[in-house]
Amino acid sequence: MRNRLLPALAVAACLAAQSSAPASPPLSEAFGAETGAALVINPQTGTTCALFDPHGLLSQPFPPGSLVKVFTAIAALEANPSAASFLVTCVPSSPTVPAFDACWYRPGHSTLNLKQALTVSCDRYFRALAQRVDPESFFSVLQRFSLVDDAGTRRWSRQETTQAMVGFGSRLRIPPASLLAAYACLFSGGCLYDLTSGEGTLARRVDLRPEIARLICEALADSPVTGTAAETRKEAYLPSLAGKTGTASYLYRGQTDYRKTHGWFVGVAPAQDPQAAVCVFLLEGKGIDAARIGVKILSSILEGDRR
Ligand SMILES: [Zn+2]
Repeated sequence: MRNRLLPALAVAACLAAQSSAPASPPLSEAFGAETGAALVINPQTGTTCALFDPHGLLSQPFPPGSLVKVFTAIAALEANPSAASFLVTCVPSSPTVPAFDACWYRPGHSTLNLKQALTVSCDRYFRALAQRVDPESFFSVLQRFSLVDDAGTRRWSRQETTQAMVGFGSRLRIPPASLLAAYACLFSGGCLYDLTSGEGTLARRVDLRPEIARLICEALADSPVTGTAAETRKEAYLPSLAGKTGTASYLYRGQTDYRKTHGWFVGVAPAQDPQAAVCVFLLEGKGIDAARIGVKILSSILEGDRR
């Protein structure tokens, strides 16, 4: 099935039009000299709250890094609810072990279940989980959330698919605006909004079992406290935050560069009553860099709303 609801060209045209408006000061200031883009929406209505995209990055597909792990988890849980209690021990990785065979956290995460692994984004856990997930189920989840169309998922090898499920490699590419819409959908009871107009049009309702949505949201809500984004909230005004960071293979204008990475962050706040959802994409950087910017933006917007 083609992606009819969030057509890439329409997203590009609309976001380009929105980009011509002056960026909200908090967004441009939060980026400083970094090259990147950010989009803030109200996850309950899909309306655009703020936009910063001077280089037109939000509608371009990029490798999503660890942000894809949420959809791997959904595919695993839908196929088998007992996946929630699947345990994997993340052992220490020596410095000589290649990244794809290791975990980003070299000392090792010890033994984790799925929710804990999502919170800390354990690569070793998701590599073991991915080997149990049927590729068709994984791509079907991505299509339901309008992240890819079927043409983009043909002729993948099992190894390529497993790598994509963990967040490695550059074959899977998703525009930042589409990832934001999909994450916001998890926090809005399954409402997937079309972000093309900026006004929040309901594209479709995504069927997702409540217990799965709850597990994912709770794992992401734990993440800023105990996971990869722990330090981002220390000085920010944020009552609670759910979020996910990603550090992805660099692929820009058809060129890979193994010395560089893209930095991603998607965050929703407050976690229990989401009022704002942000996606930050850094052309060069790491997930934690994007998270620092995202937290600044969310703090600024929510503080502004309080006044
Ligand atoms: Zn790990």
